[in-house]
Amino acid sequence: MSTIPYGRQHITQDDIDAVSAVLRSDFLTQGPVVPAFEQALAEHCQAKHAVAVSNATAALHLACRALQVGAGDLVWTSPITFVASANCALYCGADVDFVDIDPRTWNMDPLALASKLEQARDIGRLPKVVVVVHLCGQPCDMRAIGALSREYGFKVIEDASHAIGGRYLGEPIGNCRYSDITVFSFHPVKIITTGEGGAALTQDDVLADRLRLLRSHGITREASQMDNPPDGAWYYEQIDLGFNYRMTDIQAALGLSQARHLEQVVARRHQLAQRYDSLLADLPLQLSWQLPDTYSGLHLYVVLVDEKAARGRKEVFDGLRSDGILVNVHYIPVYRHPYYRQRFTFRPADFPHAENYYARAISLPMYPQLTHEQQDFICERLRSYLT
Ligand SMILES: *Cc1c(COP(=O)(O)O)cnc(C)c1O
Repeated sequence: MSTIPYGRQHITQDDIDAVSAVLRSDFLTQGPVVPAFEQALAEHCQAKHAVAVSNATAALHLACRALQVGAGDLVWTSPITFVASANCALYCGADVDFVDIDPRTWNMDPLALASKLEQARDIGRLPKVVVVVHLCGQPCDMRAIGALSREYGFKVIEDASHAIGGRYLGEPIGNCRYSDITVFSFHPVKIITTGEGGAALTQDDVLADRLRLLRSHGITREASQMDNPPDGAWYYEQIDLGFNYRMTDIQAALGLSQARHLEQVVARRHQLAQRYDSLLADLPLQLSWQLPDTYSGLHLYVVLVDEKAARGRKEVFDGLRSDGILVNVHYIPVYRHPYYRQRFTFRPADFPHAENYYARAISLPMYPQLTHEQQDFICERLRSYLT
């Protein structure tokens, strides 16, 4: 019996043809397809600028750098996320802290954020940036977070690695209505892929210039940005310490082709999610609760095993794995990782909802080509372990 992964890419003949065309063209990188992909992203998301990069981790790093996060600064994020949402702050020499999740949406709880901000103001240790994560693709409560950012003066990065194609109050994720920069990932398990890849979107011209500069070594060829008049046509200046975080045209061609099917792909994920919702409705599980007037990108379909289930999470997980269903857990709270434990003094008791979530979560398979037969099999096996 073949195994069922928790997520996988969906590659069409059009995708293959688009990549082949770049391989036969003059530019494998720094050619015209990267800006074409960026324009398609910006248009889809109603953002002024999209900056394509080598992966979302690089995009998060550049976003922190563009917002001038540095040594002594503080960045807050959700504990229930991939480590990259927090590591980006450490790359800049800043410190990291976490805000507990809402037990229904599993995203950063704006009430917990508000009370932590109040305490932080009292001790003069407010965050410079808050990285919010649209877990599973479900949009965070951005209006509340945006209001707090104005009140307390911090910047907001949306880690939307799970959420391209999603909508918040009728508008696309990525339009940065309540944030400064939004980041997407195009890893193959995510919603659309470029193999490896990411992007940072913003409405702000200055931030976009910084993102582009830092993506390519901090080097400029714009005379207006230079200290000196150009020595000649070959001339460029390094004016900041940047990186090589560029996306190739090969990757961008795949992304551009994939982006044409974005709406269909997300709609298919919703169809599968609704089917899971009804097949699992009578089982001892907590399903995700969506904020009103939001449309999830549905990168992940997570269920939480109830205490009253016949078996605990680990047994259910191991049973499903032995059936060839490659379930996963997203995520281990970031503060539990040894690297964080050794450097900081986080107490799990300060994050009771994250701890409860982590003790119970399982990500079920979710990708466009998952068949109804496979889904029925997954639900039947799950039922056998839970009841
Ligand atoms: C996948 C992911 C990232 C990192 O994406 P890469 O493109 O692999 O660097 C960051 N944050 C979250 C929430 C993710 O799921």
